[in-house]
Amino acid sequence: MTQLSNSLAAADLATSLHPYTDARALEETGPIIIARGEGIHVWDTAGNKYIEGLAGLWSVAVGFGETRLADAAHKQMSQLPYYHIFAAKAHEPSIRLAEKLVEITPEPLTRVFYTNSGSEANDTVVKLVWYMNNALGRPEKKKFLARNKGYHGITIASGSLTGLPNNHRDFDLPAIPVVHLTCPHFYRFGQEGETEAEFTARLLAELEAVIEREGAETIAAFIGEPLMGAGGVMVPPEGYWPGVEAICRKHDILLVSDEVINGFGRTGGRFGCETYGFTPDIMTVSKQITSSYMPLAAVLFTEEIYDAIADNSHKIGTFGHGYTASGHPVATAVALENLAILEERDLMGAANRLGPRLQEGLRQYADHPLVGEVRGAGLIAGIELVADKATRAPFAPIGRVGAQAAIFGHAEGLIFRAIGDTLALCPPLIVTEADIDQIVEKMGRALDRTAEWLA
Ligand code: PLP
Repeated sequence: MTQLSNSLAAADLATSLHPYTDARALEETGPIIIARGEGIHVWDTAGNKYIEGLAGLWSVAVGFGETRLADAAHKQMSQLPYYHIFAAKAHEPSIRLAEKLVEITPEPLTRVFYTNSGSEANDTVVKLVWYMNNALGRPEKKKFLARNKGYHGITIASGSLTGLPNNHRDFDLPAIPVVHLTCPHFYRFGQEGETEAEFTARLLAELEAVIEREGAETIAAFIGEPLMGAGGVMVPPEGYWPGVEAICRKHDILLVSDEVINGFGRTGGRFGCETYGFTPDIMTVSKQITSSYMPLAAVLFTEEIYDAIADNSHKIGTFGHGYTASGHPVATAVALENLAILEERDLMGAANRLGPRLQEGLRQYADHPLVGEVRGAGLIAGIELVADKATRAPFAPIGRVGAQAAIFGHAEGLIFRAIGDTLALCPPLIVTEADIDQIVEKMGRALDRTAEWLA
């Protein structure tokens, strides 16, 4: 085992550049090489067993080793391993999946465009909206509104929408017209003496002011994750989303719900927009759509948007956008089987059934000396570590303590993600009560070990 680990690690270090990794630090530590998975667990090549507390990257809803998905892929590979949907071609899995997505998402969403990743889905949103507004004779209506700490991907356009410094710094982003608004996280961005309701009102006033300053005629869309994930698991304040929706409607600004993490039951509702009470014009989904067994994402949008785009494609002679693997038959077949499993086992209801156990379990650490805030909804949670509980002062440099906590988590057999100093949990939707109790316990030990290490 160890020999295999060592030679694989050496080969990895000799040949790869890893996403979201400090490359030089990795040269010192080497990678953890994951060899297999079963249910909520994965094993590394050294034989260590972990609970995958982040479901991979917020995505393996049905857990690892689900043979029904392997069988669905095998069946589709044997019958039609690849075909495209360009130039008037179609195939059954992508058609059936589009039908299913339209059925389970909010009513006004009637059309589906497939991509391979969440980043490409949000890139496609930008292009769809620009194409539409050019077609409608309003070429100046192109800007996007997004939020600081929002995460929408890393391509040139989606990375521009993302509101995290490390995704912009030295990449020359943002590269499209985008205005980033205040992050709707009361604990961090609420002002002294401000109530949550006042915080919401301030954010909505800021939105109105930005629209006034920029001119509604220049703003195409507002994009946001209902509950912010990769920026640090931030739950929106009460009344925020209905307020944003009302302002967008008033100013003819499209509302885009990025459900790449929230979608398919993560926060309690089937989609985050249901949990937080708004209806988008456009929605992007990925990750739990296939439980990440295959790369796939989709953009859903309204008939009104479709009509404008369809008319323009007719005028030009084509809609000049699409990926070789858009609607890939194996990916869409796996998605269909995955969604069937979510429905049969009511896994989209898991966050309602089991979320309170996770949230309440973790809230026992609110009094822990390192913990500033425990937050989350359904089966997604974050624990923010702070240097000073009273002043909420963060550790300096941000991320060092979180990274160490994650190392202790691994040693306890629990994988979670440190986002700066926020420890993120997002377990597979198949978790049981007993699994949740273990996750909570292991997290507690990781926190204690981190406190001892700091002392
Ligand atoms: N949007 C959200 C909300 C995400 O969380 C992510 C990835 O974590 C993306 C978009 C980008 O998806 P991908 O990594 O598949 O490009």
